[in-house]
Amino acid sequence: MPLTRFTDLPRYVRVHEADNVAVIVNDGGVSPGAVFDDGLRARDAIPQSHKVALQTIAEGEAVRRYGQVIGTARRALAAGSWVKEADLVMPGPPALDSLPRCTDVPPAAPPLEGYTFEGYRNADGSVGTRNLLGITTTVQCVKGVLEHAVQKIRAELLPRYPNVDDVVALTHDFGCGVAFDAPGADIPIRTVRNLARNPNLGGQVLVVGLGCEMLQPGQVVAERDGGDHGLDLEEPWLFRLQDSHHGFGEMIERIMAMAERRLHKLNQRRRDTCPASGLVLGMQCGGSDAFSGITANPALGFASDLLVRAGATTMFSEVTEVRDAMHLLSARAENEEVAQALIREMDWYDRYLERGRSDRSANTSPGNKVGGLSNIVEKALGATAKSGHSAIRGVVGPGERAQGKGLLFCATPAGDFVCGTLQLAAGMNLHVFTTGRGTPYGLAMVPVIKVSTRTELAQRWPDLIDIDAGRIATGECTVEQLGWELFHYYLDVASGRKKTWAEVHRLHNDLALFNPAPLT
Ligand code: CA
Repeated sequence: MPLTRFTDLPRYVRVHEADNVAVIVNDGGVSPGAVFDDGLRARDAIPQSHKVALQTIAEGEAVRRYGQVIGTARRALAAGSWVKEADLVMPGPPALDSLPRCTDVPPAAPPLEGYTFEGYRNADGSVGTRNLLGITTTVQCVKGVLEHAVQKIRAELLPRYPNVDDVVALTHDFGCGVAFDAPGADIPIRTVRNLARNPNLGGQVLVVGLGCEMLQPGQVVAERDGGDHGLDLEEPWLFRLQDSHHGFGEMIERIMAMAERRLHKLNQRRRDTCPASGLVLGMQCGGSDAFSGITANPALGFASDLLVRAGATTMFSEVTEVRDAMHLLSARAENEEVAQALIREMDWYDRYLERGRSDRSANTSPGNKVGGLSNIVEKALGATAKSGHSAIRGVVGPGERAQGKGLLFCATPAGDFVCGTLQLAAGMNLHVFTTGRGTPYGLAMVPVIKVSTRTELAQRWPDLIDIDAGRIATGECTVEQLGWELFHYYLDVASGRKKTWAEVHRLHNDLALFNPAPLT
């Protein structure tokens, strides 16, 4: 039977039976007088992805989406009205001292066995999905020289080492003029340290510094927690530009000579069949719209649950985008320790925002609002759908490396590049990114899979969007079907059998460190 195209008939999506608003699906929105399947008549012209009142909502009455209160009505809203941002009074965030803790821990689902990918095994037990030479930096001063060297490495050396995928400069703006001992400075320091340990760099560390900076190279390769640092320090691993006696030419030569020894080692690596449990998936969203929580994010959540059943690690992030759903997350914390860690990260971030005289409501962007998201409460409820229905097994502080398997919360800001950078430091070897408004986002260190929330975006950007989750809204597939599709796609991309559009076009955004400490 042919599918009824959703553009033909006025259509909305209601997520939860308790909801008194729903989201318009039609590409061009609906016109006043449009009649929906159930007889509801639109009173206003309502754009796509914006909300329609399903029943009369009295002034002061709760407006519900996802079965949760996203605000109270500022004025009476007739059935069929467009429910806009200005119509809602936003509730406060859930109080951290009275959150339910571990009260709704989902039982472990049956293990999924037999799923594998072709990866690069590392000495520390982690698995790479790509084979990259990463060159770490201790300060921004070296960026120009290093980028010059990287261009030459790519042009002159890399062709001789065909098993190495690329060379990446881990440049950033930290290291000089920073208050090194100030509270919060440990975050960028450990981020730089853990970036060098990303599984895709194979433990082959190379550090380029200037010589006089605050962040010293020894801190980058320092052993963590007294354990194995997982880095190969047998080869020369450090060059400081101030050690050059013969100018720029010598700097380039010395970096290239060190790089070549590392390339030689990396070139000996081969892909090997690894259990799916070697995957560390970082999930993120950017440029969200009201479809994010209906299509792409729930599909990611379903695929995350599958990966968790296969023994893998999945991470969701973005503190300001989960803060308003914290009462749902703390209930899913596997144990008291995890619940307290979640609360600690939320509390730290509340105070961080307060210092800047801001709060979590600053998150919602103009683009989010055009996309039908009225406020951060509505956005958060959709964003947390990425976490699926598994128990939350652990919390990773900003810049820390993830420990353990299962679903983890990696505490990061929501800004795309800062979140991506912190997930890289956590040890992510695969990244999936949902977008409603559209972004060409990419990272150099891991494959980035971009999933659109709407079909219209996937059609406009067919060479940027890898997976179209808008098919869920059009009825072409279910959340479960797309979840399985994503799961298999993850394994294919991790194995190098498929390349993402960001890889094909080499769309690599800069690393962006999170530095809450002052500059000097
Ligand atoms: Ca983001």
